Amino acid sequence: MSQLEIKNLNVSIGEKSILNDFSLAVPKGEVHALMGPNGTGKSTLAKALAGHPDYTVNSGEALLDGQSILDLEPDEISRLGLFLAFQYPNEIPGVSIANFIRAAVQARLGEDDDFVATEYYKNLYQQMDLLKIDRTFTSRSVNEGFSGGEKKRCEILQLAMLNPSYAILDETDSGLDIDALKVVAHGVNTLKGENLGILLITHYQRLLDYIIPDKVHVMWDGRIVKSGGKELALELEAKGYDWVKELATANAC
Ligand code: ADP
Ligand code: MG
Repeated sequence: MSQLEIKNLNVSIGEKSILNDFSLAVPKGEVHALMGPNGTGKSTLAKALAGHPDYTVNSGEALLDGQSILDLEPDEISRLGLFLAFQYPNEIPGVSIANFIRAAVQARLGEDDDFVATEYYKNLYQQMDLLKIDRTFTSRSVNEGFSGGEKKRCEILQLAMLNPSYAILDETDSGLDIDALKVVAHGVNTLKGENLGILLITHYQRLLDYIIPDKVHVMWDGRIVKSGGKELALELEAKGYDWVKELATANAC
């Protein structure tokens, strides 16, 4: 089955254990939401899967359509089809968005493929129109002086251009006002489909008013303590994270 599958993953940062036997499967074509309080390990999961060197994988498996990715370099993982939209995207002064994405697209070409600039820009402008992004956007330096909403839009444009099989969107809603949130949601809803599996990491339920997930997973202390349908997000909103703590404690007993 085509899916991003994570099995009993244990990850630490330095001496500190963050993910504890974390397991999750996101089939291609589905949108799964991962919710949980701050500090529970959501970004750690995203970055460990993307191959970030600060995170030590102690045991477990992560499979992209059956292929193990944990021993691969970040660029190899990316080329295999996993995309990560960062919670806190970096600024890259002096590098325009158009050139940044172009470099990533070129890095994906096979040995016999030629890069055709006119096709690249045609595709870039098409995606920007689809995502309702202004044309002037791409001549600006990556994330430099961007508002929270612009940074997230830039991440979504990269997602559109790189066309991955699986995307992890880490708190793509954080710090956004309602208009920016709708723009991001529109982008995700435009891109989702049978060829893309999405893991939507979010702290709040409100993004899920605009992007309806197939499944919701609630995380506490480095592992998933409850999974359910979209109504689980509403339950979480109503009951708060204390309820999750109680669930986690009950599960542990
Ligand atoms: P979340 O995204 O759910 O808020 P994180 O994965 O960012 O959680 O963090 C999980 C835990 O790991 C927190 O206690 C955080 O302080 C710690 N942590 C995250 N990144 C680092 C790092 N680079 N160095 C040390 N500790 C970290
Ligand atoms: Mg985080």
